[in-house]
Amino acid sequence: MDDYFVDIPEQFYSDSEGKPFEKCVVCGKNLLEEGTQYVIEKAMKNYEGYTFSSTVFEYAMCLDCYQEMQKGMSEESMQNLQKYYMNIMAERGNEPMMINLQTFDLKQWLSKCFFKETPVKEMKEYQLIGQFNGNHLVMNTPPMAIGEEVMEEMADLLSEKTRGEMDRFREQFLGPPPEIEELIYGRKLLLL
Ligand SMILES: [Zn+2]
Repeated sequence: MDDYFVDIPEQFYSDSEGKPFEKCVVCGKNLLEEGTQYVIEKAMKNYEGYTFSSTVFEYAMCLDCYQEMQKGMSEESMQNLQKYYMNIMAERGNEPMMINLQTFDLKQWLSKCFFKETPVKEMKEYQLIGQFNGNHLVMNTPPMAIGEEVMEEMADLLSEKTRGEMDRFREQFLGPPPEIEELIYGRKLLLL
């Protein structure tokens, strides 16, 4: 098996720390140790008239905890999401995903929604998600940008129960809901 080591891109650094995430948000496990698999998710927001995105929330979670969180998802919700993914892939002709690592440009790759190919700069909100191992990006499951349209469509596919579980989990580990953080970020922006 070929092992490609792509360093953790700055887009997946912790915004609040300005460097790679070091600990799982749930269990506190050290993530930068080789062999530790984890997921990083960031919610980004664009502001009208500004050309940059700011992070609304972010976390890194080890795979064990991530799978634990997914157990909160109902069978039905899981199946709905899988169907959604397969439909979109079918619409795109089920083309196998080809990535040439020699020429791979992550910024370019993350500049549009993985599913709908809408440029993220045209959106109010989008998410970045990537899988990592120790201090490098895992390319077998490439990172993706998920646009607001897809985020909404996916949320609609989740059952009430699943949404409740997710919200509870998020509040417990990620702190106050984004609305509050948004206010803080909004204020910060004015100070710039
Ligand atoms: Zn963990």
